[in-house]
Amino acid sequence: MPDQDAPAVVWLRDDLRVSDNPALREAVDSGRPVVVVYVLDDSGDVGRPLGGASRWWLHHSLEALDASLRKRGNRLVLRHGDGAGEIASILEETGAGLLTTSRRYTRGEREQDDRVQRAAEERGVAVSVHTASLLHDPGAVLNGDGERFGVFTPFFRALTRGGAPREPVAAPNAVAPWTGDLRSEDLDDLGLLPIGPDWSAGLGETWTPGEKAAHRRVDEFVHERLARYADQRDEPAAEASSRLSPYLKFGEVSPYQVWHRVQQADVPADIRLKFLTELGWREYDYDLLDAHPDLETVNIHREFDAFPWAEVDDRVLRAWQRGRTGVPLVDAGMRQLWHTGWMHNRVRMVTASFLIKNLRYDWRIGERWFWDTLVDADPANNAAQWQWVAGSGADAAPFFRVFNPVLQGQKFDPRGEYIATWVPELRDLDAKGRHEPWTVPDGPTTGEHPAYPEPIVDLKASRAAALDAYQRMRS
Ligand SMILES: Cc1cc2nc3c(=O)[nH]c(=O)nc-3n(C[C@H](O)[C@H](O)[C@H](O)COP(=O)(O)OP(=O)(O)OC[C@H]3O[C@@H](n4cnc5c(N)ncnc54)[C@H](O)[C@@H]3O)c2cc1C
Repeated sequence: MPDQDAPAVVWLRDDLRVSDNPALREAVDSGRPVVVVYVLDDSGDVGRPLGGASRWWLHHSLEALDASLRKRGNRLVLRHGDGAGEIASILEETGAGLLTTSRRYTRGEREQDDRVQRAAEERGVAVSVHTASLLHDPGAVLNGDGERFGVFTPFFRALTRGGAPREPVAAPNAVAPWTGDLRSEDLDDLGLLPIGPDWSAGLGETWTPGEKAAHRRVDEFVHERLARYADQRDEPAAEASSRLSPYLKFGEVSPYQVWHRVQQADVPADIRLKFLTELGWREYDYDLLDAHPDLETVNIHREFDAFPWAEVDDRVLRAWQRGRTGVPLVDAGMRQLWHTGWMHNRVRMVTASFLIKNLRYDWRIGERWFWDTLVDADPANNAAQWQWVAGSGADAAPFFRVFNPVLQGQKFDPRGEYIATWVPELRDLDAKGRHEPWTVPDGPTTGEHPAYPEPIVDLKASRAAALDAYQRMRS
């Protein structure tokens, strides 16, 4: 007979929410007292430490989660250090009878989870692991030959063939606490917020992390943006996308909740499908990560190992990072990223293409910058999408399809509104000038101290050089 007084420990990681959290739900339903734990393991031993913007997000997310647990009569226990060691010691200190958690997907995390599970079971603790941050278990969606899909469309068809994903699980009204003594770190002592300097003002103006804010955003998206999503999602000034990416990344809302909420919306089925397809890309990227655990560093197509990347000029790299390349759409995107920790998807593609193809810098350099600056920096999506733009990934855009950032701007930001928002030096110009300020007589790129730089590369010549480098790699 299990000892019902022995608590259930819920180890939260990428599922920082109380609703649709099967691990929390199981612990509550077990009738045991519950200990809810988050361990910040930023040693790098189990995987890549979070970047600066993600650390900022995590601080506020943990704060919101603790408040939500307190409302339910419990609290969040915080630990800092090796996840496996901290969980082992919490199981020991509390005499726990059950450990529940949700699956993680990088190689280091999977290996650590296996170790924790074995150690817990050896101590007689029952372990229960749930699928909560993805709609499928990577590696489980296979073609007729029992193999993974190499391209997205049939993968998504197979993913959705079985019908709708399971319904979300309700949040518990109360989470009975374990009343023993258990040490918890102070959130402020985890050092997640930037100091000296504190560069997070733009993040704070833009975002409210946490589960409650995630649901407000889902509501706002469904009511105000979804109907125009299919037509306008590529237009950065239209603000038609959901901006749910950081909430999904940290698990403040689950893909199950988003899926069902969107399916219930009163908008045509083809528009809903367009959005759900994007959620499908997230699933696909995790499948890629599962098949290629070194996705962030190793080309899926190994022929790219021989690509003749240009030597990095620090000044040029910094101009890209800070939005001073002289190419307006690229600069607008990089400034949006620096200020808000997020960038519109179309502009992510353009800025990445500019780095990889016009500057001919190794895609991993850009991937690392995004990792550090995005609030939604994600081990699967970021690496997979950088490889997609580079042409080295699965189902990737071919390398020779080089985005022209001026034409992209004219097409997707025809009035230059997005550019005017992020590059105020160009605000007073008409649309044509905003896209090509160097053509404006006595414009912002002229004079002894120009307000805005000339392009740091010649777009046409650098495109030709990239294609030439690609041919060299192929031969
Ligand atoms: C170079 C590059 C790097 C990227 N890095 C990341 C990253 O680190 N984290 C991340 O979540 N997304 C990344 N993306 C994908 C995409 O740009 C963002 O998911 C999207 O812009 C987030 O905005 P949204 O929530 O408004 O998206 P919506 O259009 O509202 O889409 C809804 C959700 O679907 C998922 N999604 C949308 N587009 C994609 C996509 N192309 N690939 C995978 N999932 C997608 C996201 O979870 C997103 O929140 C990257 C794209 C590129 C080109």
